[in-house]
Amino acid sequence: MRGEVLLLLTSVSPRANLPLVRGAKVAPPEGSVAPARSGLRPHSLSYQMDGTREVTETAVRQPLVRESCPTRQKQALQTALYVHIPFCIAKCHYCDFNSYAGMSGFFQSYVAVLVREIEMMGRAQERTGRSVEARSVYFGGGTPTVLPVEALERILGACFRCFHPCDSVEVTVELRPGTLGLDEIARLKEIGVTRLSIGVQSFQEGELRVLGRGHSARDSMVAYRRAQEAGFRNINVDLMYGLPGQTLESWTSALERALGMKPDHLSLYPLTLADGTILGGRVAKGDVVLPDQDQGALMYERAEALLEGSGYVHYEISNWARGEDGRGGELSICEHNMAYWRAEPYLGFGAGAHSLWRNCCYHNASHPADYIRRLNSHGNAICESRRLDERMRRSDYVILGLRLCEGVRFEDFVGRFGLPFESAYGAQLVGLEREGLVESDAVGVRLTPRGRLLGNEVFERFL
Ligand code: SF4
Repeated sequence: MRGEVLLLLTSVSPRANLPLVRGAKVAPPEGSVAPARSGLRPHSLSYQMDGTREVTETAVRQPLVRESCPTRQKQALQTALYVHIPFCIAKCHYCDFNSYAGMSGFFQSYVAVLVREIEMMGRAQERTGRSVEARSVYFGGGTPTVLPVEALERILGACFRCFHPCDSVEVTVELRPGTLGLDEIARLKEIGVTRLSIGVQSFQEGELRVLGRGHSARDSMVAYRRAQEAGFRNINVDLMYGLPGQTLESWTSALERALGMKPDHLSLYPLTLADGTILGGRVAKGDVVLPDQDQGALMYERAEALLEGSGYVHYEISNWARGEDGRGGELSICEHNMAYWRAEPYLGFGAGAHSLWRNCCYHNASHPADYIRRLNSHGNAICESRRLDERMRRSDYVILGLRLCEGVRFEDFVGRFGLPFESAYGAQLVGLEREGLVESDAVGVRLTPRGRLLGNEVFERFL
């Protein structure tokens, strides 16, 4: 069974906001002008390496409670805001994200244009007469912390001027180890950042070198300690597995080291290599060898066992959270990413950022220079938009929802689409249950451990 490991999943990771993108091309949503050109990329897919696992009753059935915003107005729409900072100090050897090194000369103009884009969207929403509140803001990249904190403050200020923040608004910044001192991290807290996501990736210097991360394990420990000293109480640690030279033992030791830090949240991602990356080329040439799928599955299983034993709740395929008090209080789940996994509306700003808004999905031009040029000349940087019809929205909702360990709740499905799950997907449900790929009860449907191994087969049935 372990050989059948790779899943095809539409991944919306903390690293990027990449929605399902499909459907008929249409005019973009209110508040934006028509896209200047087509050229839609196929929707972004990532391959999640997953192993067999036991999903505990708690992890599967416990609903992920979300507080509704206390300041919510009757007609207010709540949304997640994503801000893309596409700049990095250097390009990591495995990276094919929309990020660029050596572009510090663009920082100032990029921030100015980004603020303008946010303000224009805010004004456009105001004209619709419906108030929009920000439930979360996520600064992703790239490396947001290559920008001065004042620049992040300016951008966040624009977000909150244009989209009233909920009292409980979550503001995340991705932090690259080695980029900020204690004073700067403390400033992030002062400007309203509530959550840090630290890109540790590995604690082995050799692995970090192969990945071309440009920071050491010590830098990661220092960054984490500084975040704690600055008073952050919601810190995520990103780790990667399936790395060249990585063994089950070195992965176990990385996990133990991470658990020793007691982060509130852990995101564990398998290494995925795209053509055109330095590491991809080295693997193709046979210079470096990746662990095979069976080893990857074992690493995933090891992570599940260790994290569960340390009190973390597995709430999404690649994500674990623990209670705020470390003993099972309210889980420190990533509210921002929950918006993606629940197919809720979100607005993306910046180069290459994706949005899902009023049943349209659209995205901006990827290169910062192109983004700036388009926004300056056309008043927006949208290069593609698509309207999702009801069938596509249902399908996205189910596929994304199945990433969550609690799966898709029938009550939520009816509330969203006005028809019972069985009416929309009765045949698929029966077939998949018979094959042991999903399980359902009165509450909802979720992947079985076997279904997690054969995710492609499950998701294809809902397309
Ligand atoms: S820091 Fe992140 S976005 Fe930047 S190059 Fe490395 S992996 Fe890519």
